Amino acid sequence: MAKAIELDDRAAEELGSRLRGGLLRPRDEGYESARKVYNGMIDRRPALIARCVDVADVIAAVRFAGERGLDLAVRGGGHNGAGLGTCEGGLVVDLSPMRGVVVDPASATAGVAGGCVLGDVDHATHPFGLALPMGFISTTGVGGLTLGGGIGHLTRRFGLTVDSLLGADVVLHDGALVHADEEHHPDLFWALRGGGGNFGVVTSFHFRLHPVSTVMAGPMLWEMDRATEAMAAYRDLMRDAPEEVNGFFAFLTVPPAPPFPEHLWLRPMCGVVWCCADGAAATDRMLGRARELAPVLDGVQRMPLPVLQSAFDPLYPPGLQWYWRADFANELGDEAIRRHVEQAADLPTPLSTMHLYPIDGAAHRVGPEDTAFRFRDARFAEVIVGVDPDPAEAERIRSWTVRYWEALHPFSAGGAYVNFLMDEGEDRVRATYGANYPRLAAIKRRYDPGNLFHVNQNIRPAA
Ligand SMILES: Cc1cc2nc3c(=O)[nH]c(=O)nc-3n(C[C@H](O)[C@H](O)[C@H](O)COP(=O)(O)OP(=O)(O)OC[C@H]3O[C@@H](n4cnc5c(N)ncnc54)[C@H](O)[C@@H]3O)c2cc1C
Repeated sequence: MAKAIELDDRAAEELGSRLRGGLLRPRDEGYESARKVYNGMIDRRPALIARCVDVADVIAAVRFAGERGLDLAVRGGGHNGAGLGTCEGGLVVDLSPMRGVVVDPASATAGVAGGCVLGDVDHATHPFGLALPMGFISTTGVGGLTLGGGIGHLTRRFGLTVDSLLGADVVLHDGALVHADEEHHPDLFWALRGGGGNFGVVTSFHFRLHPVSTVMAGPMLWEMDRATEAMAAYRDLMRDAPEEVNGFFAFLTVPPAPPFPEHLWLRPMCGVVWCCADGAAATDRMLGRARELAPVLDGVQRMPLPVLQSAFDPLYPPGLQWYWRADFANELGDEAIRRHVEQAADLPTPLSTMHLYPIDGAAHRVGPEDTAFRFRDARFAEVIVGVDPDPAEAERIRSWTVRYWEALHPFSAGGAYVNFLMDEGEDRVRATYGANYPRLAAIKRRYDPGNLFHVNQNIRPAA
């Protein structure tokens, strides 16, 4: 395995002179802010941060790390919970300066640079009434989110983010640039759709877009003493729901700020955040059924999709402490609901939460072997996250998250969404890819035989 090594100044200066975006070392101004990632629990100090503005910069940085046996981390949006966008003592290929999006409205496609965050894509596509299915917080990186699968408000309607991926430009371990799609490097293209950052640096994604402008969306909330009833009703409702209807279930504490009414501030609650096709009869029917349960707050309204996709940003600024645990689930049985309600009664801090994302609908129309994302028959991706601004709370949020996860793990479909894993060991990575793992390992051997790209949920090259 590559290790951080002593770097002589001359070599680093030579790399710096080859990078248009520049190179940051610990003594440089700007290093401290550039080394930070989204999760405040992660405190790593890379020896070099290559600020890449173009493909040539990425090639130079990858070659440099490979030739010198340096640990290499690739940073997209820097959101990874386990801190996989950085490393201790090695070199970070920082894609955050590469943020361009080019939309072709005629073909409803977009080219998205490897360092974009979700909000960059919404900003560029929305004026054309087009959208890409992505995630729930607009500051998340397109790179990491897409390569792991991509779950969000439009999953039931249009599938995972990878299901809209048409191709990608990838810098491989030796600095070669290849284009992967159904016809060129099809194995690599298959692996990129769920296999994480294991195969190279994606400098550009090519996506199919979908016609979405406004949605009927927002939260419905219920008091915790109705959580069992609300969760069971959610389960039954989602079982019948047509693909136009998306809604994720959450346990949460009501934020102490508008637009929430003051009498609900800081009250633990459960709820569903809806995102439904605007104007569809199915939407009115399903929302009507949910309203029969008399929510204490009904914030569902017509809104532009980017408003929904950035609604949670102010709640979760960068630098908070985060600890994650996750599983896929096929069912939400009565005993699982009982345990959810029991564990959620004890939310350790106001920002800590549990989300249950539906991953059926259009995402189920793709087979388990069609892309590297294996769990195509699971109905939910569950994620439990302990969150707090105060580092002194780190242990409390970690132990609550693990306790909650252990109570629900017996109901797991067998693996977890790779983008919600912490540093949980090789078995968990293998479980996540299941029967797709051997094919991924064989593709890894072909495209990254020396495992240069190992700062990720690592797939080891097949022997
Ligand atoms: C607040 C928050 C909300 C989230 N919401 C969602 C959600 O709604 N849906 C969802 O699916 N996930 C969600 N996630 C999880 C998210 O998908 C992962 O954390 C993902 O790893 C973030 O990608 P990033 O580019 O920001 O991360 P980074 O930390 O920059 O990178 C994560 C991993 O991806 C690799 N990588 C990133 N970009 C590239 C690239 N261009 N080429 C090659 N490798 C690359 C990195 O090497 C690293 O291994 C959320 C995370 C957070 C913190």
